[in-house]
Amino acid sequence: MGPADVGAELAVLYRGPLASCNYDCPYCPFAKRVDPPELLRADRAALERFTGWVTATTDRRLSVLFTPWGEGLTRSWYRDAMVTLSHLPHVDRVVIQTNLAARVDWLADADLATAALWTTYHPGQVTRDRFLARCARLSELGVRYSVGVVGLPEHLAEARALRAALPGEVYLWVNAADGHRYTADQEAAWTALDPLFGWSVRPHPSLDRPCHAGETAISVAGDGTVRRCHFRPTPIGNLYDGSWRAALKPRACDAALCDCHIGYVHLKPLGLRDVFAGGVLERVPAAWPAVTPPSVRTAPPVPSPGR
Ligand code: SF4
Ligand code: SF4
Repeated sequence: MGPADVGAELAVLYRGPLASCNYDCPYCPFAKRVDPPELLRADRAALERFTGWVTATTDRRLSVLFTPWGEGLTRSWYRDAMVTLSHLPHVDRVVIQTNLAARVDWLADADLATAALWTTYHPGQVTRDRFLARCARLSELGVRYSVGVVGLPEHLAEARALRAALPGEVYLWVNAADGHRYTADQEAAWTALDPLFGWSVRPHPSLDRPCHAGETAISVAGDGTVRRCHFRPTPIGNLYDGSWRAALKPRACDAALCDCHIGYVHLKPLGLRDVFAGGVLERVPAAWPAVTPPSVRTAPPVPSPGR
């Protein structure tokens, strides 16, 4: 098994109570939200408990993706967790989703064979030059990372300029904007930047289809509640009473649609764990920069109202 071969072992998506962010994105409910001190203390304690669980759970290979509601890397405890977990021999990958606002030099203390970043550029919140300077520092440090943008029409020019300025080996992904329908021309324009945009542009029918979520991938809340993914609300166990172990089994999805990359990347019929092999959690395709667009790999997902 290779590094981050999450198909063979367990991928853990962790989201604690933290919901504050230093940015003010108009498309985000967590924009400029401030967490009270007691919530920050609870978030820190929960993360430290989770880090302890990862450290102690040595009987399987683990990959971890931190998916905070807000921004985690402005908080020392997320940086510390990334460094600590990166050095554990049974951890294949540790990744966090970040707006890249905070300095990244702390990553020099991490094992960069294991630590990686899922970064997102938010035009209007930071200049392109400043964001690119952070990316350049990541490249200089040797950090593995992806860069993404939300595919809103007003972001297209910035996304093109960003793609042109990023090193060719850095993958730029585009997320279809919530509630936005794309014309064929718009889809083509975004696909020119991200050849895998076709996976994001329409939700994936998932009802009764087999999904790795709940088998080799789980979602964990700050109190240890385990769900199969971030999108299905029913708990299947708890991390800290050991009940998660018996909960892991092959499962079919019970939702009509799956429309978020961190979910449908685990939907078995799509085969996206192969497309992103070795980079499932940080969203780096295995063959980047020579990836094959979805339209020639498999039938495209059916269109759905509401997007
Ligand atoms: S950076 Fe992310 S969490 Fe912060 S406001 Fe923007 S979208 Fe929301
Ligand atoms: S298909 Fe999506 S919503 Fe359904 S179980 Fe998998 S990750 Fe969750």
